[in-house]
Amino acid sequence: MKAAVIEAPGKVTVTTVPDPAPGPREVVVEVAACGLCGTDLHILQGEFAPTLPVVPGHEFAGVVVGLGREVTELAVGDRVAVDPSLYCNECRYCRAGRNNLCDRWQAIGVTVAGGAAEFAVAPVANCVRLPDHIEVQDAALIEPLSCAVRGYDVLNSRLGSHVLIYGSGTMGLMMLELAKRTGAAAVDVVDVNPERLATAAKLGSSRTALSADGLERPGGWDVVVDATGNAAAIQDGLDRVAKAGTFLQFGVADYATRVTIDPYRIYNQEITITGSMAVLHSYERAAELFATGVLDPQVFISHRLPLAEYPQALERFAAGQGRKIVVLP
Ligand SMILES: [Zn+2]
Ligand SMILES: [Zn+2]
Repeated sequence: MKAAVIEAPGKVTVTTVPDPAPGPREVVVEVAACGLCGTDLHILQGEFAPTLPVVPGHEFAGVVVGLGREVTELAVGDRVAVDPSLYCNECRYCRAGRNNLCDRWQAIGVTVAGGAAEFAVAPVANCVRLPDHIEVQDAALIEPLSCAVRGYDVLNSRLGSHVLIYGSGTMGLMMLELAKRTGAAAVDVVDVNPERLATAAKLGSSRTALSADGLERPGGWDVVVDATGNAAAIQDGLDRVAKAGTFLQFGVADYATRVTIDPYRIYNQEITITGSMAVLHSYERAAELFATGVLDPQVFISHRLPLAEYPQALERFAAGQGRKIVVLP
């Protein structure tokens, strides 16, 4: 089959690899669409400690075309979206229900072969069947949405909160959609890219600005979300949290990124600084939300490119062009 392969740091190609074979409790999925995200760039940089070479692609959906010998829950022809998370279910964190922090954390398309290929293998337990009205290509958005749902779980946000989101790429816009639906009093969005901000405005943000300096809110925001991973944005955001407010690190920063905190203010104003890593018991709920139309795929997917153009698609993503880019095997 054809697959994108990250062979070594900085080196990605589309090539022919052996067709995957399912284990007893696995299925083979013919991939309809696979999304690209910052994680793929980190893998390309040699981060996330993946064992290279690896077939990337952890955001995908498709049609079941092969069944392991012990699979009875799915049938050939079922349309599914795939939760990429692979947990050991044995370590201290798994036993405590914190599986996304698993000591032996793995993920399809990160540490094992993923969906940037004609076919991918997934455990039956990771597959969510899609309702008929969902286009299977669009369901590649469920995985990033499940990360945003996890982010909202961490926030445990109160009704009537004033929310400030840094970044109006795919993830920032997903957080905006969730903030609107979880009773935020206002959702403001900051981005250095005016084109992206226009999409945030179109999706119903309260205010948009190139810098939070352009937003009048002297007491700060109850909830500040970084969806950029950018040091300057994170630093600015930390200073905008209201008393008793929460800062959520949702964007993936480079390993070397450092910012400074203000310990006195954290103490004196009871500020919470927290993070949200990938998916935790949030994939199925994201699929349910997606089926209700929480996201407009026509807005969220800006490019649908052939798998053969995977390296160019990754470059386009790295250059910050568009929103979600998916490849179609
Ligand atoms: Zn992703
Ligand atoms: Zn574990």
